Amino acid sequence: MSERFFPDGMPQPLADATTLPFWQAAAQHRLVVQRCTACGRTRLPPAPICPECRSADADWPELPGRGEIYTYTTVHRPIAAGQPLPTVIAVIALEGAGGLRMISNVVGAAPEEIAIGMRVEVVWEDMSADLAIPRFRPARR
Ligand SMILES: [Zn+2]
Repeated sequence: MSERFFPDGMPQPLADATTLPFWQAAAQHRLVVQRCTACGRTRLPPAPICPECRSADADWPELPGRGEIYTYTTVHRPIAAGQPLPTVIAVIALEGAGGLRMISNVVGAAPEEIAIGMRVEVVWEDMSADLAIPRFRPARR
C-alpha cells in the first residue's frame, strides 16, 4: 500500500500498445524506460520506432528510481476538486536513463524546500490495482 497524494478526480494516464510495458512495470513499482536494442538510445515518452535508427526493437531496463530536479514549477490553481495546493510539477533528470527527463510531481516536501539540483527518489502512488503513478520525493538515501 503506497501513500496517496492526489484525489481520485485527478486525470489519470491511459495506457496504449506503446506505453503498456511502462504501466505494467509501474503497477509493480518498477521504474523502467524504453531502450532501442539496435542502437541503445533510450526514449521517453515511449514510441513505436526509434527516432535515431528507425528500429522497432526495444527492451525495458529498470532504472534505480533516483534522479535530480532539472527544473520545476509550483501550481497554485487546482485542476481537480480536492487537489492539495500548492503542488509542485518538476522535470526530473533520471539516473541511469541515458539523459532522459521525466515530468512528475515532487511530494513529501513543501514547495519552498524544493530546489533545482535536489536529489529525489521515486515513490509510487497506487491509483488502482493495475495503475501506479511515479511521483518523486526528496532522496532519503
Ligand atoms: Zn535505435
